[in-house]
Amino acid sequence: MDPRELYQELILDHGRRPRNFRVPEGPTCRAEGKNPLCGDHVAVSAVVVGDRVEDVGFQGSGCAICMAAASTMTEAVRGHTREEIAAMFARFHGVVTGAASGDAEDLGKLAAFSGLSEFPMRVKCATLAWHTLEAALQGRGEPVSSE
Ligand code: ZN
Repeated sequence: MDPRELYQELILDHGRRPRNFRVPEGPTCRAEGKNPLCGDHVAVSAVVVGDRVEDVGFQGSGCAICMAAASTMTEAVRGHTREEIAAMFARFHGVVTGAASGDAEDLGKLAAFSGLSEFPMRVKCATLAWHTLEAALQGRGEPVSSE
């Protein structure tokens, strides 16, 4: 199968059936994010122990890209440290904006969003949950806006 089709399948699947669509038990931080351009709205809650995100979940509503990005994000970051997550987000951001060239295979499912660099409006949908997680991890409780 063409990787593009596979990526599209993955985004549709996660968009329809988001993983970790919940508030984890005993969250230690939370933040909300909005993408007014598209109407996306997510709240990300995480359980951070020491420097590690032990559990994470999200709630909210938005377009398929936003939901799929939030869903794959929760799967990708769980069990990782703040530092690892920041590095992951930087790579993901580079891939979706087209700033990072080359293949994104080591990003796993996150690579599914690499085609978005052709649709700049959609980049905000894909990065909203990541910005929101970042805000939660930094203890910034106020809503973030991707604008
Ligand atoms: Zn959107």
